[in-house]
Amino acid sequence: MGRIAIYPGSFDPVTLGHIDIIKRAVCVFDKVIVAVASNSHKKMLFDINERVSLLKESTKDIDRIQVERFDGLVIEYAKSKNISVLIRGLRMISDFEYELQMALTNRRMNESIETVFLMPSEGYSFLSSTLIKEAAVLGADLSSFVPKSVEDSIKLKLQ
Ligand code: ADP
Repeated sequence: MGRIAIYPGSFDPVTLGHIDIIKRAVCVFDKVIVAVASNSHKKMLFDINERVSLLKESTKDIDRIQVERFDGLVIEYAKSKNISVLIRGLRMISDFEYELQMALTNRRMNESIETVFLMPSEGYSFLSSTLIKEAAVLGADLSSFVPKSVEDSIKLKLQ
């Protein structure tokens, strides 16, 4: 069956930074499940179906990945699939505190889950979905930050 990892997130929307992490992850694991969280405390621009389909469209040329939605706790989702590795992206030091807290909380809830951190190319290390949404509202050119389909969908959404 090989080594499988889950890359969870809200992906609202997927950026080239997320894609960079996905490409790195498939070099390390045999298969990667990109898991889109349906529930989040954050205010979403795209609903769960839109986020999943934008991810599918943006990753259609990458082999050995699967995009799925999940509800509830990621550790429960991982357990239900018998997968014990979570991937998270680390951009800057500012991500570290939150990510460490989450990784240790998940480990406390399930000792057998390991979180693996991957660093994106430095060109994407400043990029976040939140920033993209803010820049989009102000009419910025997003072409070097998000896939074309995402750029088009944001424009449509904000019309
Ligand atoms: P969440 O809401 O769970 O933080 P996100 O969709 O914002 O979900 O991010 C999912 C994961 O991808 C997180 O680990 C985040 O740090 C990482 N990530 C987000 N943007 C980037 C980027 N530009 N480069 C690398 N990793 C990123």
